[in-house]
Amino acid sequence: MSLIVQKFGGTSVADSQKILAAARKAIRAQQQGYHVVMVVSAMGKNTDLLIDLANQITDHPSAREMDMLLSTGEQVSVSLMAMAIQSLGHNAVSLTGAQIGIRTDSSHTKARIKSISTERVQRLLDAGNIVIAAGFQGIDEDFNITTLGRGGSDTTAVALAAVLKAELCEIYTDVDGVYTTDPRALPEARHLNRISYDEMLELASLGAGVMHNRSIEFAKKFGTRIHVRSSLSDADGTLIGSLPESPDHPVCGAAVLKDEARITILGVPDRPGSSLDIFSRLAARNISVDMIVQNVGEQGKADISFTVPKGELAATLEAVEAAAEALGAVDVMHDDQVAKVSVVGLGMARQTGVADKMFHALAAASVNIQMITTSEIKISVLVARDEAHAALKAVHKAFDLDKEPPRNSVATSSADAAAALNAEEVISHLRGVDMEELVINDISLDESQARVTIHGVPDAPGVAAKVFDEVAAAGIFVDMIIQSFNGIADEASLSFTVPKDKFDESLRVADKLTAEFDCQAVTSSPDIAKLSVSGVGLRSHTDVAIRSFRSLGEADINVEMINTSEVRLNVVVDGKRGTTALAQLQRAFADVLR
Ligand code: ADP
Ligand code: ASP
Ligand code: MG
Repeated sequence: MSLIVQKFGGTSVADSQKILAAARKAIRAQQQGYHVVMVVSAMGKNTDLLIDLANQITDHPSAREMDMLLSTGEQVSVSLMAMAIQSLGHNAVSLTGAQIGIRTDSSHTKARIKSISTERVQRLLDAGNIVIAAGFQGIDEDFNITTLGRGGSDTTAVALAAVLKAELCEIYTDVDGVYTTDPRALPEARHLNRISYDEMLELASLGAGVMHNRSIEFAKKFGTRIHVRSSLSDADGTLIGSLPESPDHPVCGAAVLKDEARITILGVPDRPGSSLDIFSRLAARNISVDMIVQNVGEQGKADISFTVPKGELAATLEAVEAAAEALGAVDVMHDDQVAKVSVVGLGMARQTGVADKMFHALAAASVNIQMITTSEIKISVLVARDEAHAALKAVHKAFDLDKEPPRNSVATSSADAAAALNAEEVISHLRGVDMEELVINDISLDESQARVTIHGVPDAPGVAAKVFDEVAAAGIFVDMIIQSFNGIADEASLSFTVPKDKFDESLRVADKLTAEFDCQAVTSSPDIAKLSVSGVGLRSHTDVAIRSFRSLGEADINVEMINTSEVRLNVVVDGKRGTTALAQLQRAFADVLR
């Protein structure tokens, strides 16, 4: 018999009437012939209230007790849901994470799922019950209760759907699907009919709170189809599957992370091992770092900037100041008034001028770009927090995200069916491996590019737009773009990679711009090697960058540029070291290469 997983978020079970409405949806699915597993979140703002209570007792509640406390929220709602279904004349059994056998690691408040046993759930379903699983929780080796991180019920739902081989995982929430951006932030946001796993993964980790990003990692790994829809209506929502809504559209959505902080370490000795030292200290504290930008300066000293969630700033500074002292760096600066604005789309990998369009939109809105990083399917810029909304509005409009995209002719259902077939293979492939383990499926070397860096470009609105206008006008296709913060007021460095045969042309353009903007200098490398590590879980596993730095450092290879996305880590090194770098990375990731 086919199985469906239905997940109800906090607002969808906020009171008894809503619980009864959710119960009716599950009963209806059962009457249509499905086995039904419900996954339920804590009622309304219950989790927030529990966190508040803990903070009234102490500023530093222990993570283990926090999990013990927070897991009670879900225990309340599963039992009420079971009573609701029973009161409507149907059989239901509620189960906690421990009772199901959702095994996790022991990192309290952000535990990862290792395995899930299906036996008890299956038995209850076969006996005609609707099974109601508590979201967001599991149990570690020593029977301690763990939780998966805020918003983690989505991950419980998709993980259960994966192991139970569900036909579909329905996510019932307070919006009727995934939009081009948060519809609460921008009313002109457009409803998406479908979105690809990779796009949803990026959007979720770049601020689209509608889905927990780790749930999409599961879905991608196991080929689980997800339908995000409203708990208040029966209208179609958004399908998350293997294909994008419109393959011709460069951008499918935009997102903002409002509470970011930037850290810059000035005058770091530019040698292999410096970055490793800094980032391993952060990884040891489980701090996830983003937008890493390294800016090679004069006299063998580099400035390293990166962003962290603002809430992690204090811990970050502690770690970074210790690292700076150990390395003999000159100074550490930070800014906690910044926000990250990103656009995402599978289509941008095949189109030119996408970054340029974003920079233009920001310039027209007089928004200054403090940092830039790009990857194959996303562009992120760091801006002042009070300009974030204007920035989001401007890029949303620039990419016509409020308008219907051209009709999509791809036969989507057959592609999803193919993905589901593939899931069997993945599951057998992963046997014996923890479910949320990092998976690397490819490590590749690209020796076709060169790098150009313009030092000391003015830190003012419109500069990036002007630079990439000139580059595009010369017919040059740019791959990676990184703009760093120099630490010196009103200046930045802009690096980009271009095809080798466009190197001379690119240098001419850079020299012209340098004269025009009165910049310090242009440095370049006619021969770089770009190494790409691709897979699932690259950002939620914070040690991927560290492993790369370590393995390259061991061979005395310096990382010149780096960017990370959910599905790929790219590093640029000296072109002569490409093959060695590839071998080092292959060795470093051998245990997770599948
Ligand atoms: P639940 O409690 O059901 O898990 P969440 O609050 O976690 O619900 O997620 C739903 C919310 O996500 C919406 O109310 C919406 O404001 C927000 N959101 C952020 N980005 C997006 C987006 N791109 N599309 C839809 N909703 C979004
Ligand atoms: N109740 C948890 C939270 O509020 C988990 C969830 O809702 O997904 O974060
Ligand atoms: Mg949620």
